[in-house]
Amino acid sequence: MDYRISERAMVTSCAVGILIVMLGNRRQSLMMSAVGAAVMVLGILQALVFYKCPHCKKRFKIGSRRPSVCPYCGAKLEDDQPAEQKTQTSTEQIEPPTEEKPE
Ligand SMILES: [Zn+2]
Repeated sequence: MDYRISERAMVTSCAVGILIVMLGNRRQSLMMSAVGAAVMVLGILQALVFYKCPHCKKRFKIGSRRPSVCPYCGAKLEDDQPAEQKTQTSTEQIEPPTEEKPE
């Protein structure tokens, strides 16, 4: 499995797993909570196996964002999406409070 797919699967399974656990808690269903926990564990387990550098086969840190360059062998990791460049210019202008002066 591709490491990019693995990362996505990990994130998705964690999110879905947490949702199921929360639903299980609300419904007081131990079975449902267990299923949610299992989904999370499975997602992390597959990441332990597949979330690694395609060049040197070393595992990436789970929980960190996918690096653009392998921290171990320095291989450039292909990006499936163009790097977003968001330039946020704060246009907020702090206006001083208008004081009402008695004449
Ligand atoms: Zn590497």
